[in-house]
Amino acid sequence: MIVGVHPLAGFDKLLHYQVPEGLRAHMQVGSLVRVPIVNRMHLGIVGMIGAPDNFPVSKLKNVTQLLHPFPALTPDLLSLARWMAAYYACGLDAIIETMLPASVRNGAGLKTEKQLALVRRLDVPELETLNRRAPQQAKLYAFLAQQFKPQRKSLVLSRLGITAAVSNALVKRGIIREEERRIERIAYDDDWAAGEIVAAHPPALNDEQRAASDALAASLREGKFGVSLLHGVTGSGKTEIYLHAIHDVLEAGGGVIFLVPEVALTPQTVARLRGRLNALIPHHGAVVWHSHLSDGERLDGWLALATGEKRIVVGARSAIFAPVQNLRLIVVDEEHEPAYKQDETPRYHGRDVAVMRAKLAGAHCLLGSATPSLESFFNAQNGRYRLLQLPRRIDSRKLPDIDIVDMRIEIMRTRGMTTLSRQLVGAMRDRFEKREQTILFINRRGYSSSMLCSECGHVEACEHCSIAMTYHRHDEQLRCHLCGAERPAPLRCPKCGSLKIRWRGLGTQRVEEAVRHVLPHARIERMDTDTMSRKNRFREVLAQFRSGKIDVLVGTQMIGKGLDFPNVTLVGLVDADISMHVPDFRANERTFQLLVQVAGRAGRGDRAGEVVVQTFTPQSEAIQFSRHADFAGFAAGELKMREQFLYPPYRHLIQHVFRGPNPEKLQFFAEQWARKIEQTLGDKVELRGPAPSPIEKIKDEYRYQLWYFTAQVTKVVAEIAKLRQDFAWPDDMIQVLDVDPVSLM
Ligand code: ADP
Ligand code: ZN
Ligand code: ZN
Repeated sequence: MIVGVHPLAGFDKLLHYQVPEGLRAHMQVGSLVRVPIVNRMHLGIVGMIGAPDNFPVSKLKNVTQLLHPFPALTPDLLSLARWMAAYYACGLDAIIETMLPASVRNGAGLKTEKQLALVRRLDVPELETLNRRAPQQAKLYAFLAQQFKPQRKSLVLSRLGITAAVSNALVKRGIIREEERRIERIAYDDDWAAGEIVAAHPPALNDEQRAASDALAASLREGKFGVSLLHGVTGSGKTEIYLHAIHDVLEAGGGVIFLVPEVALTPQTVARLRGRLNALIPHHGAVVWHSHLSDGERLDGWLALATGEKRIVVGARSAIFAPVQNLRLIVVDEEHEPAYKQDETPRYHGRDVAVMRAKLAGAHCLLGSATPSLESFFNAQNGRYRLLQLPRRIDSRKLPDIDIVDMRIEIMRTRGMTTLSRQLVGAMRDRFEKREQTILFINRRGYSSSMLCSECGHVEACEHCSIAMTYHRHDEQLRCHLCGAERPAPLRCPKCGSLKIRWRGLGTQRVEEAVRHVLPHARIERMDTDTMSRKNRFREVLAQFRSGKIDVLVGTQMIGKGLDFPNVTLVGLVDADISMHVPDFRANERTFQLLVQVAGRAGRGDRAGEVVVQTFTPQSEAIQFSRHADFAGFAAGELKMREQFLYPPYRHLIQHVFRGPNPEKLQFFAEQWARKIEQTLGDKVELRGPAPSPIEKIKDEYRYQLWYFTAQVTKVVAEIAKLRQDFAWPDDMIQVLDVDPVSLM
C-alpha cells in the first residue's frame, strides 16, 4: 500500500510513502500520519491512496505512525482545503494548518486516566473468604461495590492506602476491571452569561416562524446541498428557527456546525443556544469552539467531534473546520458580520467557506441576519439561495423610534463643536432619573481621515469610484485609494465655501468626558479596544452593566453585537457619519447595518426603546432607510449603485498589497507588475491603481495597493498566482493577495 502525504513541514508538496502492514487497517484519505523527511520526522495528512503510474515504488520510505484510527480531515474537509488553496491563492499546507488545532498538529494524543469498576458482586461465602485471606482486596471491593460509576484508579488507591498489586489481583480474578478513559476538560464552563434565563420549553412558533421552519425541514429531509437566507428583523425569533432545524438534524443522526461572529462578543447567544440544546437533547452536548480555549480543551472538543462522540459544534469562524461527522447543517448567524473574514493568511471568509463546505458535504447551509450582506441578498434575489423571511418582531412589538439629530443645526446653535446634542442629553437625563440604562456608540476609534464639512455635511468623494477620498497629512493631498486619483486638500468646503472642515471622528474618551459633564452623578464606563485589552475586563464590565451597576456605557461597535439588555431604553449613536464616510464602497451598507442592529438592541423588555442618531448628513439613504429598518428599500438603492460601478456583488474584488522599506522601488515594481497583468489578463480584469494605501506607512514600511475587479474570480486568481511566481520581485518587497476583502482600508 502506498500513500501520498501532504507534510506539515512548511512547504506545499505531495510526498509518497509505503504503508507497513500493521498500519494499513485504518489508513485512509485524511489520516494524520508521521513520516520521515530527510532526517526528521514530520506530521502529514494523507491526500491520496496509491501512487501515480510508473512510480519508483522500491525506494519509498515507510510511514512510521498513524496517529488516530479515524481521519483527521474528513473527505469534505480535504476537498475544501483544495478549493481554498486555489480560491484564496494560498499554499495547501497553510490551509491544512489552519484546519487542524495546534495540539493536533503537534501530534498530541488522547489524555487518559485509568479507572476501576466492579465487574460482579460477590456472594456472602466469597466475601467472607476474601475478608479473611486478603483484607486489602476486600477493602477495595467494598469501596467499589458502593460506587455507581467507575472511579479514578490513582485516587482510589491513595485514598484506601493500597498498592496497584491489590487492584491487579482483583482484576486478575475477574471481580473488577481496569479501563482507560479519556479525560474530559470542560470547555465552556464560565459565567459570562450569568443571569441569562433559559426557557426549557420552546415557545410555540408563530405563523411566519412556522412557515420558515417547515420550508427548512423539507430541505433538510431532502438531504441535498442548498442555501437558505433567513432574513428576520431584530427580535423576530430567528434563534427558534435555528434550534428547530438543529433539533431535526441531530434526531436524524446528522452533524451540525453553528457559527457566530465572535464568541466572546456573543456570550448570550452561545449560552442561550447551549441551554436550549441541553434541554432539548441532553445527550448531544455541544462542543464550544473559540479563541480562548486552552490547547487541551480544544483537543478534547476536536476529538469528541472527530470520533463522532459529539455531533454539534458552536463557535467562531474557525469552527467551520471542525471535523463534524455526517455534516447535514451549517448555520451562520449574523452572516453579514465582517468578523467572519480572517485578516491574515489564509484570508478566508467564514461564511463563503461555510457555503462551500455545505456544498462539498451535500449539506444545507442556513445564513441568518436582520441585515443580510448584499452579496447574500443578491444571491437570494437571483434564485441561488432561498429567501426565508420573518418580517415582524415577536408579539408584533414595535421597533424603537429612531430620532435623527441634524448636527449642522446643532453646531450653528451652539456656535462651535458639540459632542452631545441637546436632544441626546435630554434623553439621557430622563433615563438616569428613571433608573434606566443608556448605551452610547461611537464608531471605530480614531481612524477617519476623510473630510467632512460641518456646515453643510459635504464629503469629498472620488468621481470615478464614489468612495470618500483619504486625506494624506504629509503632503496635504486628498487621494482615492482605489484608483489613485489625487488633488490638493481644500481649505474651504468645495460645496458651500465654509472653513469648518473636520478631519477626524470623536474618541471614546472625549465622549466619556462629555457624558460626565452633563451627568456628573451617573456611573459611566467606557469600553473600547484600549480599555478592554485585559482579557476579562470585557466580561466584567458587561456583567456589571447587566446587573445595573452602570448607568451609561460608552463604547465602539464591539458592544453592539448580540447584546441584549432589557433595561437599556436609550441608545445613542454619537457620530453616524464616520462609518458612512470611510473610504469604502461598503460604507453605506455598514452604516445601515450598524443603525438597524443598534436600534434592535434598544427596549427589548416590555419597555419601549429610543434611538438617537447624530449626523451631519441626515438625508443620506443609509440613515433614512434605517429609520424603519427598511432593508428591502435600502438594498434596492444600494444594489443599483453597486451595479453602476460594477462593485461586488456584481463582480469580485481582489486586493493586492505591496510592502517594503523603499517607496520608489515599491512604486516601480508595483507599476511593472500592473503593466504585466494588464497585458496578460487585461480582457478578464479591470485594474485600479497601484496607489498608496490609505495608511501609507506602518512601522517604517511603505504600502502600495492594486485592485483587480473581475467576473471570473477563480480563473483570474489562478493566473495571478502563476504569474506571481515567475515575476522577479526584489527581496525586500512583500506582497499579499486578498480575495473578496471585506474592508478596503
Ligand atoms: P432574533 O435572533 O431574530 O433577533 P430572537 O431569536 O433573539 O430574535 O428572539 C427574540 C425573543 O423572542 C427571544 O426572547 C425569544 O425567546 C422570543 N421568542 C422567539 N420566538 C418566540 C415565539 N414563537 N413565541 C414567544 N416568544 C418567542
Ligand atoms: Zn460645506
Ligand atoms: Zn477613484
